[in-house]
Amino acid sequence: MSVLPFDQRDGVIWMDGKIVPWADAKLHVLSHGLHYGGAVFEGERAYNGVIFKSRQHSERFRQSADLLGFDIPFSVDEIESAKAEVIRRNGVADVYVRPVAWRGSEMMAVAAQNATIHVAIATWEWPSMFDVEQKMQGIRLDMADYRRPDPMTVPAHSKAAGLYMICTISKHRAERKGYADALMLDWQGRVAECTGANVFFAKGGALHTPIADCFLNGITRQTVIELAEQHGIAVSERRIMPEELPDFDECFICGTGAEVTPVSEIGPYRFTPGDVSRTLLEAYSAEVRRPR
Ligand code: PMP
Repeated sequence: MSVLPFDQRDGVIWMDGKIVPWADAKLHVLSHGLHYGGAVFEGERAYNGVIFKSRQHSERFRQSADLLGFDIPFSVDEIESAKAEVIRRNGVADVYVRPVAWRGSEMMAVAAQNATIHVAIATWEWPSMFDVEQKMQGIRLDMADYRRPDPMTVPAHSKAAGLYMICTISKHRAERKGYADALMLDWQGRVAECTGANVFFAKGGALHTPIADCFLNGITRQTVIELAEQHGIAVSERRIMPEELPDFDECFICGTGAEVTPVSEIGPYRFTPGDVSRTLLEAYSAEVRRPR
């Protein structure tokens, strides 16, 4: 399948306060963000033209930058109206939304105190998988070699570009072995998350999920916990060791991109997507499309 490269698409991108043609949204090769990882981003979805939990994403975007020691030169309100404008101008109502901020070219060494902070917002079509029965087949996960790092060693709660290095390596290794994604442990050997999504397990009708103390506490994860509570499903946030994996009945991953995606296999362990996964898959799908 050939996919149109992301730098050759039609439409507009919001860049540093202005709407520019897609092809013109460029940066120089000597940009600090590219060389030293001084960049943060967001991943959001609009359903029928409205971004789910948009403000929360804009707040996290600014906070991710703050954790990297820079200030995004646009307020939450300005980011909100920029996102809405890009969606409107691109004329597609169901899209993925990608804000990104990076340190510019004024300084090109470890220190970048005077580098200008640039911000861009792009949108593109990324249909969510509607077929519930197909989703209920579950995806297959590998066990990643890399672990989520100790929060004493990285800004673990920032959605920082640099932290995705181990995610891309892990996902590539998993895909080469025929898996859809990989489950990562954390620096202490506890179950953590996938390369771009959080993870939940079900046992005896209740949900169990790792404490988000060294990885992103996903907005979808928080939504799933609220929805589970509304449906009378108990949720336990706790330390989960990989030795426990054979004891769970069900597993699913969740994130803005993945939404709620059941899992049938993690390395040697098997799961059967069932009632808990189905309930949350359907509840999440309804929640994101609920008119507001
Ligand atoms: N963990 C990682 C590493 C991610 O990239 C994502 C996707 N942003 C998530 C978790 C889930 O976050 P959210 O639900 O806010 O999309």
